[in-house]
Amino acid sequence: MAETQIVLASRNRKKSEEVARLLAPHGVSVRSLAEFPGVPEVVEDGATFAENAAKKACQVARHLRMWTIGEDSGLVVDALGGRPGVYSARYSGPGATDEANNAKLLQELADVPDEKRTAHYVCHVAVADSEGEVRLRVEATCNGRILRELRGTNGFGYDPCFLIPEYHRTFGELSPVVKDVLSHRARAFERLVPRLVTLLRRESR
Ligand code: IMP
Repeated sequence: MAETQIVLASRNRKKSEEVARLLAPHGVSVRSLAEFPGVPEVVEDGATFAENAAKKACQVARHLRMWTIGEDSGLVVDALGGRPGVYSARYSGPGATDEANNAKLLQELADVPDEKRTAHYVCHVAVADSEGEVRLRVEATCNGRILRELRGTNGFGYDPCFLIPEYHRTFGELSPVVKDVLSHRARAFERLVPRLVTLLRRESR
């Protein structure tokens, strides 16, 4: 199949790299929003990952008149009643950084015993066509536990404190090759890809 292009409605460089790696083997090349500085910021005010993903996909697709992937993801911590959830990127407040978010998370969980430190990542993906209509949706999760300290420098966001129990390693310690198989994003795109490729092929005829 000839290479197909699709926009990813994200300015997160690490996330864009992960999505590009997941789609490249299927002949789909990803254009990140970094290439389109004129696209207005999407306000992520949805109550769910699904709402935010659809909003990102539709707004950017309508603006660029191009097929667009909207991806919304985050960390759901059981002992925090599901927080930070859809607020994962800005958990520590305006101008949040990964470092500040991780520090806040570890501090909030300081008194939580090991057996209650369960958590999962969620990734919701919505694909909008060039008219801005949602044509595909998938969601996937990845289970883990929150450590008491940061370990490793791979990945991004909460990865250095997110332990994959089966591997006794955090996503910060595991190689990108392993994260690209196990993660919430990898699992979502594994389900999405066959449907996306079929749809794009049909539409380009
Ligand atoms: P979004 O870009 O608005 O979807 O925000 C996603 C946020 O959730 C990121 O900024 C991270 O804080 C967190 N997050 C999502 N996926 C991951 C991941 O794979 N590793 C670590 N943190 C993640």
